[in-house]
Amino acid sequence: MALLIDLKMPDWMTDEELRDALLEYEPRADIRIGADPGDPGEIEMLTVSTYYPGEALKYPNLRVIQKTGAGVNNILADTELPESVQVVRLRTDTSGNEMAEYALAYVLQEQRHIRQYRQQQAQSSWQAYPPRQAAASCVLVLGLGRIGRLVAERFVINGFRVSGWSRSRKQIDGVECFAGDDELPRALAAADYVISVLPSTPATRAMFARDLFAEFNPASVFINVGRGDLVDEQDLLAALDAGSLAGAVLDVMSVEPLPESSPLWLHPAVQLTPHVSGYHLGDAIEDIAANYRRLCNDEPLLNLIDRKLGY
Ligand code: NDP
Repeated sequence: MALLIDLKMPDWMTDEELRDALLEYEPRADIRIGADPGDPGEIEMLTVSTYYPGEALKYPNLRVIQKTGAGVNNILADTELPESVQVVRLRTDTSGNEMAEYALAYVLQEQRHIRQYRQQQAQSSWQAYPPRQAAASCVLVLGLGRIGRLVAERFVINGFRVSGWSRSRKQIDGVECFAGDDELPRALAAADYVISVLPSTPATRAMFARDLFAEFNPASVFINVGRGDLVDEQDLLAALDAGSLAGAVLDVMSVEPLPESSPLWLHPAVQLTPHVSGYHLGDAIEDIAANYRRLCNDEPLLNLIDRKLGY
């Protein structure tokens, strides 16, 4: 049984680097790389970072696609993906903690008016603003999965009022938990910061549109680290211009890389980063080796995606 690594993200990690890391766990594994896959009929497991529609069909005996991350929307969007192919993701403790750190960095920047002071410095302007206090500020985390939970807990530790929202109700110490579509407006109305860590699924795509932005607290800042296609970007810009919310921090966009022509680049209330909030895999690499071993032994796989739910 062969595992093919075809990440297509050499600036982030080369296929050779991942192969060498996996061989530390499974020295006798048959691991191929994208540049030299050998006989496609021997490939039963495919590891990707970027996935192209129809890619699965190149390997007639493919059983598993392993994503080197958490978001599998591009794989599931492939209308030619055979029903028999299982899709698995990675656990995200390392990248999830990085995403929590990213969200905290942007929230603290707002709390301490750092953007304004930077602009004032350019004009030699000495004007003070009272810092916002964590205990008086509410952070709402949308999506309380593996990453959302880490994000919520990070804000609890830092003394913020924290709420969270998911499909099924959770119980997390220090977090007021909301669940289901009906409870979302109430959660949004009370939030100073709205952090989306939701996956892209048929139920969440384009959910951040005009009607939902109207439910935001006008002073709030929206931080999206989940997936870009959850946001109608034209509606977001219109909502910012209309004062329905005060700012947006986007790590993920509907089209990546974001086209030069996108008005998001130049909007004064928008801050952008190139999909870097969760970056490192950490010891999650071990799970790829474990899934290879499990596949060889016909055992259940780790971190299996529910293809119907989309996450
Ligand atoms: P999980 O699958 O562990 O959690 C998803 C959460 O979203 C769950 O709490 C789930 O609710 C909730 N959810 C899903 N659908 C809905 C819905 N329709 N309404 C309300 N809540 C919903 O995922 P992770 O936390 O591991 O990852 C989340 C996403 O983060 C990934 O899908 C990926 O797109 C993105 N990501 C981005 C990175 C970056 O660098 N920007 C890096 C890594 C991931 P419930 O618990 O009730 O099922």
